[in-house]
Amino acid sequence: MGALPSPKLLAALLLAACVGLSSEDGDLWSYEGDGPEHWSGKCKDGKHQSPIDLGSGGTVESNFESLSFINYNNIYNGNITNNGHTIQLQVTDISHNIMLTGGGLNRVYSLAQIHFHWKSEHTINGKRYPLEVHFVHFEKRFKKVEDAVKVKGGIAVIGVMFEDKDSRNEIQVLDQVKDLRHDMKKNIKFSPASLLPHDTSKFYRYYGSLTTPGCDESVVWTVLSNSLPLSNKQISLFQKVTDSKGKFLLSNFRPLQKQNDRIVYFQSSPPHQVPYHSSALSLKNSLSIMSSLLIVLKLK
Ligand SMILES: [Zn+2]
Repeated sequence: MGALPSPKLLAALLLAACVGLSSEDGDLWSYEGDGPEHWSGKCKDGKHQSPIDLGSGGTVESNFESLSFINYNNIYNGNITNNGHTIQLQVTDISHNIMLTGGGLNRVYSLAQIHFHWKSEHTINGKRYPLEVHFVHFEKRFKKVEDAVKVKGGIAVIGVMFEDKDSRNEIQVLDQVKDLRHDMKKNIKFSPASLLPHDTSKFYRYYGSLTTPGCDESVVWTVLSNSLPLSNKQISLFQKVTDSKGKFLLSNFRPLQKQNDRIVYFQSSPPHQVPYHSSALSLKNSLSIMSSLLIVLKLK
């Protein structure tokens, strides 16, 4: 009668962890039929679950340093898959070193994968967006995601909203969503930064969970306040994604969960903004060059 769980239970727990994050996870859960209201375990009785509405339950102003997206700007070899629950992007360059830190995270995280929800899982002051991307990171001291998922703050997810405001903006990698049938995998080259807005200084922060079974409460969430414009044409590509039964996966967002006793922080103006996009710097430089030219012209 030991207190330690049996190897069989450990194997089951490990499998449950993989189900939430793996791309080859079979069809043990779904968004319709036996949908989110039937998910069990932490999904059913957890008190710190995700997603939530950001803003309506009140926010606390935060004063963290800027988020640092390390090596996000490079172009990597990777793949894009349809696992029946989402479209997932993965970098396959072995020593890619794409990391996230700063922004009050106090730890360094490695990028594991990127995936999409349509419509958005989080809402901001009650507003639901047509698409939300999740950048899933795990704390660097762990060897793999499955170890980090059992520790509070072991997983750090960045959420970004997409918005169709008569936008013509198209993101090259998203063209690959077209005709991506279940279990299909395509090799691609992409830059994670292409899925981030230029201004990442404003964000919501709270502790929550994975939004898929087993809903482990290990996630430190950062949802950016600035959305990314995206053409209606690319947003609608997600409506054509099919699940493992060949049916259209018309939506794949978990319903909103209760905030309960949690604090949601809102970072609206960081004290030391370090733009990671060189374009932000060069714009500033160009503006100062232009104003110097204007002064010269005026003097003439
Ligand atoms: Zn997600």
